Amino acid sequence: MALNVVMLGPPGAGKGTQAERFAREHGIPKISTGDILREAVQSGSELGRAVEAVMERGELVSDELITGIVRERLGRPDVAGGFVLDGFPRTVPQAEALDGIVAGRHPLIVIEMQVPDEELVRRVQARRVCRACGTNVSAFGSNPSAVVRCETCGGELVTRSDDTEAVVRERLRVYWRDTRPMIEYYGRRPTFRAIDGAQGPDEVWQALVGAVMAVAAEAGLSVPPGARP
Ligand code: AMP
Repeated sequence: MALNVVMLGPPGAGKGTQAERFAREHGIPKISTGDILREAVQSGSELGRAVEAVMERGELVSDELITGIVRERLGRPDVAGGFVLDGFPRTVPQAEALDGIVAGRHPLIVIEMQVPDEELVRRVQARRVCRACGTNVSAFGSNPSAVVRCETCGGELVTRSDDTEAVVRERLRVYWRDTRPMIEYYGRRPTFRAIDGAQGPDEVWQALVGAVMAVAAEAGLSVPPGARP
C-alpha cells in the first residue's frame, strides 16, 4: 500500500506545511519542487543558475526541466511506501508527464487547497522561512521584524525573495493562467478532492486527512493508523 499524494493550490495556501506534516506522520518523503530549486540556487549549481532569474520574477521554470527533476526523484527507492508532492505539477503538460511517471503504481490522491487571493497575499507577506532547516513560520499578529529565530533549530528566519507583494501577485496571475486548467484536468477523477484551506492549520489538517482517507477507502487502499484524525 502506497499513499501517493499530490497537494495542489496557489502560493501561500499552506501546501508545504500540510505536506510536511502528512509526510512526517506517514514516514514518506515530501517532495517539494520549490525547495529543490531553492537549494540549487543556494548552492550555486548549474541548475540553480539556470532557474534563479525565473524564480525571482515569479514565473515557472520549463516543463521539461522540472519534469526531469521529478522523474529522477520518483525513481528513488524511498518512495516505495508513497510520497507527498508539493508544488508539482503546475501545468497540464506536467500533470500528463506525472501520469506517465507513476503509471502502474497506486493511484494519485489529488488534494486541492482552496484559499481566496487576498488571504494568500496577506499570508505570503507574513511568511518567514528558516535559512537553516527550511521551516515556514508566520509572522502574523506580531511585529514581523521581531520574528528572527526559528523555534525548531534556532536558525535565522528570512523572507523569501519571491514573497514580496508584487511577485506574489505575479505568481497568482501565473497560477490562474497555467495551473487552474491543470486542476480541471484532475477534477473529474474519483481520486480528486478540494478542501477549504482558508481555515486554521489544524482544521485544514483534519480536512486533509479526511479527504485522503475517503479517497483511499474508495480506491480500496488500506490507510495506516497515522493517517486518522
Ligand atoms: P514554490 O515554493 O512551490 O512556490 O515554488 C517557487 C518557484 O519555483 C515558483 O514560483 C517557480 O518559479 C518554481 N517552481 C516550483 N515548482 C515548479 C513547477 N512544478 N513548475 C515550474 N516552476 C516551478
